[in-house]
Amino acid sequence: MASEIVSARNLIKTFGGLTAVDGVSYSVEPGQVSGLIGPNGSGKTTLFNLLSGQFPPTAGSVFFEGRDITDLAPFHRVQLGMARTFQLVSVFSRLSVWENLVLPIVRFKKKDQGLGRFYLKNKQGRGLFEDCEQALDTVGMTSKAFVPTSELSYGDKRLIEIAMALALKPKLLLLDEPLAGLSDHEISEVMQIIRSLKGQLTLILIEHKISKIIDLVESLCVMNEGRIICQDRPDAVLADPRVRECYWGTEESC
Ligand code: ADP
Ligand code: MG
Repeated sequence: MASEIVSARNLIKTFGGLTAVDGVSYSVEPGQVSGLIGPNGSGKTTLFNLLSGQFPPTAGSVFFEGRDITDLAPFHRVQLGMARTFQLVSVFSRLSVWENLVLPIVRFKKKDQGLGRFYLKNKQGRGLFEDCEQALDTVGMTSKAFVPTSELSYGDKRLIEIAMALALKPKLLLLDEPLAGLSDHEISEVMQIIRSLKGQLTLILIEHKISKIIDLVESLCVMNEGRIICQDRPDAVLADPRVRECYWGTEESC
């Protein structure tokens, strides 16, 4: 337990009569790249929402580096080192790329670092700018820093969203379907960036199609109907008959 960066114990989330997450116990080791897969509606995004604190669980607990964070607000979780992206790209279209990067830092980090009103002028503020510059560089978007986000392609917006999360310097990054809606070229770009992050932080990646991430992840967790049916190394998951039965109805869906 102590070695896990994040873990969930017996998590349940119900919406009215629907149980979206149904008794999930889940954990990821620090430094791992881990995949979370499963059919649409199987509870993957809801599990992310519970880990990142978007809403409270109906029952169960969430731990981060051994600490019970079940009752902690999302921004406190960010301050502890957990960041996420959303299934639908979530950026401010009217702002420039650079402004999109700086905003979350001001929102999430300002209070704790005592930056005060003139946070941009002091030393800590400059450090935060460097974090933004580095994040932009990581996703290869430095040349577009001052472009209005509304003028970017969907793929570039996705990269900006990843950069916004990276600028927060997370220990754990949750990426909800980062490849969804992208062209093949954009997919290989995002994959390359995720690969470059390997070893620097812990990553959990939701993806619908296992074939896209099988070569990238070190562990895979499969959800179906709110439950985890298998969590193991990718080759073991592929060989598991329960996974084949529920997830790979046809070759096409892989
Ligand atoms: P996945 O990400 O695996 O596609 P979700 O976690 O988004 O699945 O959804 C799991 C189930 O929970 C679905 O039936 C979905 O309609 C339901 N659900 C998710 N979020 C909400 C919500 N905020 N309110 C009501 N139902 C929800
Ligand atoms: Mg989802």
